[in-house]
Amino acid sequence: MVVMKFGGTSVKDPDAIRRLARIVTREQGISGVPVVVVSAMSGITDQLLDAVAAVERGDADLASQKVTVMRDRHRVAAEALLGPSVERDEVIDLLERQWRETAALLHAMAVLREVSPRSRDAVVAMGELASSHLVAAALTALGTPARCVDAREVLVTSADHGLAQPDLASTAARLHERVRPLVTAGTVVVLGGFIGATASGVTTTLGRGGSDYSASLFGAGLRAAEIQIWTDVDGMLTADPRVVHGARPLPSLSFAEASELAYFGAKVLHPSTIAPAVADGIPVKILNSHRPEVPGTTITAAPPLPEAPLTGLACKRDITVIDIRSTMMLAAYGFMRRVFEVFERYRTSVDVITTSEVSVSITIEDRRAIDDIVRDLSAFAEVGVETEMALLCAVGERLRLEPGLAARVLGALDEFPLRMVSQAGARRNLTVVLPQAHLQAAMARVHERFCLEAEPAGVGA
Ligand code: ADP
Ligand code: ASP
Ligand code: MG
Repeated sequence: MVVMKFGGTSVKDPDAIRRLARIVTREQGISGVPVVVVSAMSGITDQLLDAVAAVERGDADLASQKVTVMRDRHRVAAEALLGPSVERDEVIDLLERQWRETAALLHAMAVLREVSPRSRDAVVAMGELASSHLVAAALTALGTPARCVDAREVLVTSADHGLAQPDLASTAARLHERVRPLVTAGTVVVLGGFIGATASGVTTTLGRGGSDYSASLFGAGLRAAEIQIWTDVDGMLTADPRVVHGARPLPSLSFAEASELAYFGAKVLHPSTIAPAVADGIPVKILNSHRPEVPGTTITAAPPLPEAPLTGLACKRDITVIDIRSTMMLAAYGFMRRVFEVFERYRTSVDVITTSEVSVSITIEDRRAIDDIVRDLSAFAEVGVETEMALLCAVGERLRLEPGLAARVLGALDEFPLRMVSQAGARRNLTVVLPQAHLQAAMARVHERFCLEAEPAGVGA
């Protein structure tokens, strides 16, 4: 069995949902009944978060206008996709009820002037709930019997709202109970990605872009033969196409390379997607729902080495560098522990770390707790903060195998003011931090020299 996940742009309107239906029906002809995971229609999660933010500012009217716009968009899509029938009336009713419930939730939050991570999750989950009902009805109407199963009854998570952690064993048991029998009976099950619930049934979400993660969790729990991530590009590209002109699709990639690229900013894949697939050795494919005939990218444990020296590049903007200079010797026992305790205290994750004898430099993406972090660190060290930095991460198995490649990549960046350089023990990535203004040029330089076929003459050893 195959798990097929369709992102926001792949369910954004009736034409996209018709394309999805053709892709699912074709897969059913090849590998049998698939399980389908869908994101909210593109833009809906942002609009739901905007509605919550409006309520937080006390602007209940704006929140309710936003709900009306979302409700209308779903109704128009349902009317376009489903012919006049009892089923169509039922789905339209169900969606209406769901948007009324969303409006009621937002109203209650406005009255109480209280927005908690828990109530935010309850609102934000509405996007995937609506799209999964709509897609299941559309599939059925277009000739492929399908049924929506509420993902909150399947994906069991911790209560860390906004970034919930899955409980693998309970989720596998629920999949076995609620999804497997329908598949066996020949029904395509449609689940919303990104959303789950605690064991006691309180709605949670997995973090932005989390539908990919849901798909791989369901794939692992169902022991799927393959996990397909259908999106709006031809696969994992050698670099973010919005940053590098001429990025090309990668036919294959290792699990380790895909994890590094996703972790360091390749938005096409949520960083947690790979782990469940690795555990069970399930191949992950990235495919373009606009061009289903394109082979896309296949991610497996040990694909053939690519021709080019580097497999791909990832980048993140708006990075903050924190320099921590020890007032005692850095090697002093317990110093690092004190540093990391501060980041842990404020639940801020760290991306890159470099050290010298007297200082540690750390990059963070999430600046929410920066003032608290700096204050606490200042109790035992001198602290400097630099904003508007970017991180460029070069990834490839060849970095591990070819001594000298990392030095050549750094050599190609000799005109750029690099702030930090890091290569971890696994040596599959080389990460540099530089001022954001230089990112695009640095990416273009490394991409041109190392990500297209062979290295140009004179650059090699
Ligand atoms: P979906 O809604 O299908 O989940 P996303 O917007 O989350 O899609 O991810 C797809 C987008 O990721 C692409 O449109 C592209 O702009 C961006 N992206 C960033 N880095 C890469 C990369 N290395 N390869 C492919 N796409 C990338
Ligand atoms: N809808 C969610 C988001 O926009 C999850 C996803 O699309 O993967 O973040
Ligand atoms: Mg995504």
